[in-house]
Formats: sequence, structure tokens, C-alpha cells
Amino acid sequence: MTLTPLEPGSGTHASLADTEQKVFWTDRSDAPTAEPPLSHDTSADLLIVGGGFTGLWTAICAKDEDPSRDVLLVEAADIAHGGSGRNGGFISASLTHGVAHGEAIWPDEMPTLLRLGRENLNAIADFIAAEGIDADLRLVGKTAIALTEHACTQLPQMLDQHLRWGENAEVLDRDAMQSQVHSPTYLGGLRVRSGGGLMDPARLSWGLKAAALRRGVRIHEGTPVLQLSRSSSGGVVARTPHGSIDARHVALATNGFRPLLRRLRMRMLPIFDHVLVSEPLTASQLSDIGWADNQGLTDIGNQFHYYRRTPDDRILWGGYDAIYYRGNQTDPRLEDRASSHELLARQFFATFPQLEGLRFTHKWAGLIDSTSRFTPVIGTAMGGRVAYSVGYTGLGTAASRFGALSMLDLLDRRTTERTSLDIVRRKPFPFPPEPLRYPLVQFTRSRLAREDRTGRRGLWLRTLDRFGLGFNS
Ligand SMILES: Cc1cc2nc3c(=O)[nH]c(=O)nc-3n(C[C@H](O)[C@H](O)[C@H](O)COP(=O)(O)OP(=O)(O)OC[C@H]3O[C@@H](n4cnc5c(N)ncnc54)[C@H](O)[C@@H]3O)c2cc1C
Repeated sequence: MTLTPLEPGSGTHASLADTEQKVFWTDRSDAPTAEPPLSHDTSADLLIVGGGFTGLWTAICAKDEDPSRDVLLVEAADIAHGGSGRNGGFISASLTHGVAHGEAIWPDEMPTLLRLGRENLNAIADFIAAEGIDADLRLVGKTAIALTEHACTQLPQMLDQHLRWGENAEVLDRDAMQSQVHSPTYLGGLRVRSGGGLMDPARLSWGLKAAALRRGVRIHEGTPVLQLSRSSSGGVVARTPHGSIDARHVALATNGFRPLLRRLRMRMLPIFDHVLVSEPLTASQLSDIGWADNQGLTDIGNQFHYYRRTPDDRILWGGYDAIYYRGNQTDPRLEDRASSHELLARQFFATFPQLEGLRFTHKWAGLIDSTSRFTPVIGTAMGGRVAYSVGYTGLGTAASRFGALSMLDLLDRRTTERTSLDIVRRKPFPFPPEPLRYPLVQFTRSRLAREDRTGRRGLWLRTLDRFGLGFNS
């Protein structure tokens, strides 16, 4: 049974009737108090723009390398406002958007990329433990689910790829898949027990914020950087609404938000990804779906759902309908898109009809920064004084730390294993500018949806493949 197109389920409207437009993870009474906005001119050795995982790891690692470095982090809204506080909470060792994609684009560098990715995830887990961060990290792997016959035919190849690169994986036939999680739509799956798991993104963001403050990082929330320019002293001046910052070095960690460097507009596509969270399930509803491993689930396809249980046994259900708005719009008002949330709700009840009557309490959307090769664009500007790492393409909860370390390498002009890899040395192919960009994205989306329905990768997608191009969420 395929998930597209779907007939509206009878419970859809009622399930969304009282849903609040709010991020579940940050909707907590014990959220930390915001640090005050910058209100005067100041200076810093290192200015970090953006208070998500990339910015916070940059601040922490910079201080751990050299505690005497004066580090200032400014965040336009508040810590955990961006993707870092509103994601699905899947955490993956992969730096290459999965083993299959890494093997396709950087086969020679895969051993190093895999090792660095695993070391990176281990370092995150060790840090969480050492700092006592209550981030509910559970390295339980995940299961990719086949919903169509053609997805089932991909499972043996997916298994080979995972085993070849040292992952712990097994193919599940229909019965084995159904015995793990019960849904009439499941035809099979790939259970991957290694390489990642789940965590609580807001608690991790807030824990990193506290760790940065403990190390003496100065943080100003509610402080957008409006413009960067060269300073007379050879550094960079960042203009904010109520003060300027004269910095020797700047690290840009602004993800899919409007880039401060024009060159990044060419390399990154801002895409809105949508999420629902249900009310907590009762014990009997939980037993109706099984899910004893409590791992993350995704379906196999270009347009895919990702879903998981929360610590209080709600279901977070997101993905599928990733939307690009003409002209790279990132206006937060676009986060409330009824048709995307209704589609998600219909697909949810098609997957779990036994949960008919369940209501959603939270809905939101967030910005994903896609590059044409699904891996970040990392580099420098302004004569090496500014570094950037954006474009994690929906898989950045762990890769953001790799991006942070790479920015510090580049700013300090160190040649390292990281900076020698193509993921840092080479830039992804640029997206065409508007007015071409929007129609090409729409056309590509329609071809991706057709492949999900038919299992056939048409001429357009095969042409993009030849050049290593695409976009993803
Ligand atoms: C709905 C959704 C689900 C996702 N699910 C997953 C998942 O399950 N697993 C996974 O690995 N990844 C997932 N991702 C992606 C992941 O969240 C990101 O890759 C990661 O959080 C990126 O961190 P970041 O610090 O680079 O960006 P962000 O967390 O977005 O932080 C960027 C920050 O920069 C600030 N900013 C922007 N411009 C300025 C400026 N001019 N001045 C000051 N501040 C500025 C923003 O306010 C924002 O807080 C998801 C993303 C979304 C949106």
C-alpha cells in the first residue's frame, strides 16, 4: 500500500481542531531565561552569529581549545529558535546524508568520513554525559520502512551498503517489520542498530548554552547581525540594532536563514519542513502499535516521513511536504501552512488507523538548508576572517559539530584531516538564481514524487544524478 495519494481519514479534522502552532520541544515552563540583547558597541576575538548547534559547538570548542579567547555569540531570536530546537531529534553519525549518498559522491573518502562521523557522535555523547546534560540521548539506531513493492526491492542493496561500511543492519520482511511496529502500510524494512539514535533537541541546545556560559562565552539573544563589513583594524565589524561588534574572526552559523554573505544564497536552498506532535498515547494505544524498541522510524523514498516517540509517549510525525517559497523566502509567517499539516495528519492515520481519534497538540515548521549535494557548504570569506558552515540538508544535529570544528580550523589556518576532505575543500554546485530557481525546484519535486509512486527514476532525475545534483530535506 502506498502513502500517496491518500484519502482523507475521517478523524483528520478533529485531530487538528485544537492544535497549537508551537514547537513541542521548547514549549516548557523550565526553558532557560534569555541572555539580554547587545546594547552597546563591543569587540571580540571570535564572534559567532547564530545560536543553534553549529554556533554553540563553535563557541564551546573555541573555548576548550583556548580558554583565553574572548568569544561572543549573538542570536537573532533565542537559543534553540532555529532547526536546533525544532527538529525530529534524530541524531546520526553520518556526515554524508547517509552511507548510500556518501558512497555515490565521495567513495574514496568514505572511510575517513565514516570514522570522523563516528568519532564526532561519540564526542557528542561523551560531552553530554560529562556535562550532565539531560538530553535523553538514546543510541538505538533507526528503522527505514518500505511502503511500496519497489522500495522492498531496494532493501537488499541498502543492507549491502550498510554492512560494507561496518553498520549493524538487517532486512525485515513484512512479518518481521509488522512484529516491530504494527501498520497496515508496512511491507518490509531495514533495521539499523548502529550509527545514531534519538535525543531531545531543545534540552541539548539549552545544555550546550549552559556549557558555553560556564566556559565564559558571552551570549546575547534577541540580537540579529544586520551586516558585516571590514574594520579599519583588519578585522570585521558586525552591525546589530543597538551596537556594533569589532571582531578579529567571525563564524557564521545561520543555517537556512537569510545569509549575510551573498555567495551563500547561490549554494543553499531554504526549505520549510512541517511537524505534528500528538497527545500522549495511552498504554492500550501503545500496545496497539507495538514499537518496543522505541527507535526512530522513516519511510524509504524521496518524500519521506520521520517519526518517533517522545519521552512522554507522544508521537512526533514530520517531513514529507518540504516547501520552497519563490525568492528564498524565510518569513516565519510561512510556518503556519494548513495544507501541509492536514496532509501530515491524513498520512498519520493512514499509517496508524488503530489510533483514530488521537489528537495533535503541537504543529510547527522549520527551515532546512538544502545544498545541491545534501552536505554542508563550509568555507571562508573576507580574506579568511569569516568562516561559514551551513547546508546540513536536514541531517545536522551531529554534523553541526563537525562544521563547527571545520570553521575553527579554517579561521586558525590549520590544515587538518577535516580541511583536507572534499566536504570542506569543494563547494556544492550552485542552485540557479530566480526566476529560474522556483520552477526548477517545483519540476524536480514533481519528478521525485513520481519516482516515489512508480519506482522509476525519470530522465530529469538521472540527468541531475550525472552531475551529482538535487535537493532534499
Ligand atoms: C523541522 C525540522 C526537522 C529536522 N529534523 C532533523 C533530525 O531529526 N535530525 C537531524 O540531524 N537534523 C534535523 N533537522 C536539521 C537540523 O535541525 C539542523 O541541521 C541543525 O539544527 C542545524 O543547526 P544550526 O545551528 O546550523 O542551525 P539553526 O539551529 O537553525 O540555528 C541558526 C540560528 O541562527 C540564527 N540567525 C540566523 N540569522 C542570524 C543573524 N543574521 N544574526 C543572528 N542570528 C541569526 C537563527 O535565529 C537560528 O537560531 C531538522 C530541521 C528541521 C527544521
